[in-house]
Amino acid sequence: MSSRIGARSGLPGRPGPETKSLRPRPRAILFDFDGTLAPNLDLPDMRRQVIEFTRAHAIPDEVWAERYIVEIVGAGHAYLAQTDRGRADAYFAQAHRLITDIELVAARTTRVFSWTHALLRTLRAGGTRTAIVTRNCEAAVRLTFPELDELVDCLLARDNVAHLKPDPRHLDAAMSRLSTTPSQTWMVGDGAMDMRTGRAIGLYCIGVLGGTGSREQLEAAGAHEVLTNARALVGIETSVRSHRASP
Ligand SMILES: [Mg+2]
Repeated sequence: MSSRIGARSGLPGRPGPETKSLRPRPRAILFDFDGTLAPNLDLPDMRRQVIEFTRAHAIPDEVWAERYIVEIVGAGHAYLAQTDRGRADAYFAQAHRLITDIELVAARTTRVFSWTHALLRTLRAGGTRTAIVTRNCEAAVRLTFPELDELVDCLLARDNVAHLKPDPRHLDAAMSRLSTTPSQTWMVGDGAMDMRTGRAIGLYCIGVLGGTGSREQLEAAGAHEVLTNARALVGIETSVRSHRASP
């Protein structure tokens, strides 16, 4: 399997002894969406637009600097609410509208990767439960992946949860829905945030390239291994299954 780049794995397509002992057999796999099962959103441009909008509301940079996009809006809202609740709420609603509009425009011309359906079908046939845990909105995810309900057991998008990753409660909620535990669950994503969040609650974390994070960034964030893309999961998941089934 030439597409596989295992950080600690053995020969391509043939897991080494160390790999076998490292990987728990998954009862469930939690997937990030953009950059993992579908082409990535232009997050730097979205962030630029949200910052421009936030500055236009005279919210000082130090209020929101170093925050993720949705968290910029939360911090800006809290700042404005100290003096004008109505203005704060208007900023919050308009900023979220801006984010959602960007997501929906991208979703209209984006579809999941050509191999995503086959990957999820194979996992389901093998009895592995799946969830999508994403900071994208539900409407955009469904537009990009209309067949989602036939292939995925659980979708927890931004508008479905009270706490977004990197808050681990986002992943906790998905595990609860899938009746799984951290020791039986893999987190798969293209971002360092996915790896850090999964690690924080003891998941086996697999980074995938081609999205936000480089191999070095994913490993530094705690990835147990890094693959070229999520399609390579099929061979790995099957090898874990057959290994554990052997006497
Ligand atoms: Mg992503």
